[in-house]
Amino acid sequence: MGRIALDTVVVGGGLAGLSCARTLHKAGRNVFIVEASDDIGGRIRTDEIDGFLMDWGFQVLQTAYPEARQAIDFKALNLQSFDPGVLVFKNNRFHIMADPLRKPRYFFKTMFSSIASPMDKFRLLKLFFKTTRRPLEYIFEASERPTHQYLKDFGFSDNIVQHFFRPFFAGVCLDPAIAASSRVFEYVFKMFAQGDAAIPEAGMAEIPRQLAADLPKECIGTQMRVSSLRQNCVVLDDGQELTTNSIVLATGAGEVQRLLGRKETVSYFSEYCLYFAAPKPPFPNSLLVLNGEGNGPINNLAFLSQVSGKYASNGQTLMAAVVIGEYYEDEDQLKRSVKAQLREWFGSATDRWRHLKTYHIKKALPDQQPPAANPFRFNPRVGNNLYVCGEYGSLPGIQWALYSGRSAAESILSTESGL
Ligand SMILES: Cc1cc2nc3c(=O)[nH]c(=O)nc-3n(C[C@H](O)[C@H](O)[C@H](O)COP(=O)(O)OP(=O)(O)OC[C@H]3O[C@@H](n4cnc5c(N)ncnc54)[C@H](O)[C@@H]3O)c2cc1C
Repeated sequence: MGRIALDTVVVGGGLAGLSCARTLHKAGRNVFIVEASDDIGGRIRTDEIDGFLMDWGFQVLQTAYPEARQAIDFKALNLQSFDPGVLVFKNNRFHIMADPLRKPRYFFKTMFSSIASPMDKFRLLKLFFKTTRRPLEYIFEASERPTHQYLKDFGFSDNIVQHFFRPFFAGVCLDPAIAASSRVFEYVFKMFAQGDAAIPEAGMAEIPRQLAADLPKECIGTQMRVSSLRQNCVVLDDGQELTTNSIVLATGAGEVQRLLGRKETVSYFSEYCLYFAAPKPPFPNSLLVLNGEGNGPINNLAFLSQVSGKYASNGQTLMAAVVIGEYYEDEDQLKRSVKAQLREWFGSATDRWRHLKTYHIKKALPDQQPPAANPFRFNPRVGNNLYVCGEYGSLPGIQWALYSGRSAAESILSTESGL
């Protein structure tokens, strides 16, 4: 490619990089995304295999994410929502914990569920009002502690913490100890309370594809890994140099540290996501399923084709089971353990469930223990003409990737205009 002069080079084509590049492109800047892998999307990719749509790890878009509401055309994605609530497996049966305001038909089952005592239900209501009334900015200014401590201080019983909050929040942060900051917990609870957990009809990868559609094709280069940075220049693995006025690092926190020449201090949680095809679903609804017992490999699972029919063809059912952490046995053994647990939960019908594929996402989410960054105080500028976005200095998640990407672009534009 030789030497090219560009206004901005964005390193990384995940949501943060795309959000940044799109904002700069809209402002008329000559921007180029340098992406190491074979496609854009970063941690949000979808494979289409034998008529099944398999996301690279189970993920959802919360329709309450304020930045997503601005940046993404939900209608064009034809978002499909999960039922608002969960099914908790405990003592050999499933218990419903649903939002009775949005799902009145689950009202009695939820009210008589043995997962939550009457006092827990009262406190859930209190938490609902606390988080839904507080603006997000306020949540991230509040004092913080590990979530398990926060739930205890809030007065929740061990029963509801162990059987509901632990698998629920571990599934969100991929941290089985639920030690993430209470600010992150309040934010997550608020998002679940104020909107739906949803997936684009044709897979999660439709989100980055929609952002990329606003950029000319020649603005994105794939299979181009940045090995190092120099003044106003990024150096690729093959030695090529791209000269530019400004550089944005949108690579994920660990890689940002490496490129900045800093010690890599970020610790990540990992997940296995195992996909299975079943002849038919065990439930008629589309609730998320949580492991309320704490034993066995599965933390949570979802019947994705119950949410969007496009996830499975030929009337089949697609199920995703999430296993958190590093599994030290081999993947065949993991598959057998997961199948054994599915049989325990759903009976002998699972003998006909077919394993399709296992995804192992090693660096899925960074640890979010206190002190958590305040994403509204995120400062994208880390040097002269050098900017960052994504989880570095902020938080992980679709909301913050989009928000920090736009913030980095706005910071470049205001620096240029001397503001
Ligand atoms: C299993 C899983 C479940 C999740 N669940 C949810 C969820 O339910 N809801 C939610 O909101 N969020 C969820 N997330 C988080 C969310 O997907 C991420 O926070 C978000 O996609 C990160 O976007 P990003 O652009 O900051 O980083 P990334 O998506 O990691 O993008 C970084 C890009 O930079 C590229 N890159 C790295 N190094 C280089 C280099 N040297 N040169 C060039 N390119 C480079 C990478 O290839 C990658 O494409 C989940 C994540 C995972 C993995």
